[in-house]
Amino acid sequence: MKLPLVRVYLPVRSRVIMTGSATETSASLVTCPLARASVGIERCRECERFEGRRRVDGQSHVSCCVRTPPAPSPPRKRLPNAADLVPVGSLLAPDVVCLAEALSVAEATAVMLARNLSGAPVVDENGRPVGILTRSDVLRAGPEARVLEAMMPVAFALAESDSLARAAALMAAEHVQHVVVVGDHGRVVGLLTALDATRWLAREAGFDV
Ligand code: SF4
Repeated sequence: MKLPLVRVYLPVRSRVIMTGSATETSASLVTCPLARASVGIERCRECERFEGRRRVDGQSHVSCCVRTPPAPSPPRKRLPNAADLVPVGSLLAPDVVCLAEALSVAEATAVMLARNLSGAPVVDENGRPVGILTRSDVLRAGPEARVLEAMMPVAFALAESDSLARAAALMAAEHVQHVVVVGDHGRVVGLLTALDATRWLAREAGFDV
């Protein structure tokens, strides 16, 4: 049976890589329901399903026509709950700010304070994660230290299609509050925080937060 085409509006997110306290490079990303992964806006423009960009609730969106998106496969051995069915890609903030590994801790601190970040992925020149720098890492390191010396190296990362349940289990088991989310080619597309998971839980319970 052929599924009907539906029009979806997908929020455009940005990935900013700070290469100095005031210099940056950026890319626009969309979570593609077919790829179940972030794709660059340039790829959308070349896609036959792309209809254009629209502003919805003040945020830029891509309009595209897709057939019903594939459902995530449920976990085995027990009935799935809501957290099993929510991909972490759907919970990512509109923007992710990454730190270039060559930055000093002083420069990284300026970025984190200016943008009120509790942590940020550290990336190599290809946008792939090499670590996470958190406020406590900054406090422990001196301002002259390099980000590369102060960060916690990345030991694991999630794919956008991984479930929130899996992310929560990972954070609890590893005693961490930030998990890097990577897309195609292993590049950072977001940073999932314990607060993101808690906010989702509160909304599921009906709170308007
Ligand atoms: S336009 Fe194409 S590549 Fe972009 S989100 Fe839609 S289906 Fe995916």
